[in-house]
Amino acid sequence: MTIVFFIIGLSVILSYNWGSPTPEFRTDAPNIILFGIVVAAIIYIAARYSGQGRFRSRHCTACGRGIPFDALLCPYCGFRFPLP
Ligand SMILES: [Zn+2]
Repeated sequence: MTIVFFIIGLSVILSYNWGSPTPEFRTDAPNIILFGIVVAAIIYIAARYSGQGRFRSRHCTACGRGIPFDALLCPYCGFRFPLP
């Protein structure tokens, strides 16, 4: 999730007109910020549904409760998962 905020923040920084003598945003600032939000959303959705992302959760095969994706031991029933 950190990368999403990083990209949105980067797009805001990029949309700022640093060369201007007076503080102002570029005229195309909304487009750049929108592009950054779209890219961040795509990355977030891709990570969410890739199946390999750390956002994914799974269920214990023994008790069926939701557990962390990288858990080796079920925190509820103690079932030990075989290593892949
Ligand atoms: Zn369990």
